[in-house]
Amino acid sequence: MAIEVKFWGVRGSIACPSPDHVVYGGNTSCIEMRVGDEILIFDAGTGIRNLGKDLIRRNVTHAHIFLTHTHWDHINGFPFFVPAYNPNASFRVLAGHLTHQGGVERVFSAQMADPTFPVPLSAMQSKLTFEDFSVGDELHPADGIVIKTAPLRHPNGATAFRVEHDGNAVCYVTDTEHDPETPDPIILDFIEDADLVIYDCTYTDEEFPQKVGWGHSTWQEGIRLCRAANAKQLALFHHDPEHDDAAMTVIEQKARATWSGAFAARDEMVLHIE
Ligand SMILES: [Zn+2]
Ligand SMILES: [Zn+2]
Repeated sequence: MAIEVKFWGVRGSIACPSPDHVVYGGNTSCIEMRVGDEILIFDAGTGIRNLGKDLIRRNVTHAHIFLTHTHWDHINGFPFFVPAYNPNASFRVLAGHLTHQGGVERVFSAQMADPTFPVPLSAMQSKLTFEDFSVGDELHPADGIVIKTAPLRHPNGATAFRVEHDGNAVCYVTDTEHDPETPDPIILDFIEDADLVIYDCTYTDEEFPQKVGWGHSTWQEGIRLCRAANAKQLALFHHDPEHDDAAMTVIEQKARATWSGAFAARDEMVLHIE
């Protein structure tokens, strides 16, 4: 039984639709994983809008939505997630970094409030359940699916997820900043032997010195981590909007030349992990 991964948004920071962002896409973070009968959604950036339309086409009315954190680029698509307005649908929204800050429901409610948004959260007629866990907890969304969680180095906190099913493991590790001197021991342990690691590759090692403290990493660090942890594939993710198609093509070529397991995630790319 495979884990099917579909990228619905691969950008960080802000959506960047333009004629120069067609190949890799301009939507912010959203990933769908189909595992057995379950739909697992990771982050609710602008990519979740197209995912919502696809779920309607597929008659899917239940899913779990896991949030790495609640910066805009990871939640701003949720008001446009049309299935959440369907009274016959139900969604669980889970976050691991807000137990001491009023919880995830408060953040989602505040996002859809006067005067910054016209439609309140209460207008969503689906059965919405908001759950706060503590980062580090192990989650069991359904029989045969284990999701491990770990803390990331990011302003206001963020959570990494490792989805395990039938001997396969897919890790979603964004947003996080590395220390160029020492690989993050938590991430090394977390991604060990994973089939796929989706990693925060916002910057290049050359750009990184100007971005220290911004909470992001590089594709070179992603490769170093994956090699050291014996992971099989690396999806470069959370692309900088400043990296247009021309820049991303060069980044992806360099990454592949450095390690054959690396590739750049694109909007609507599908992977079967088995
Ligand atoms: Zn982000
Ligand atoms: Zn962030």
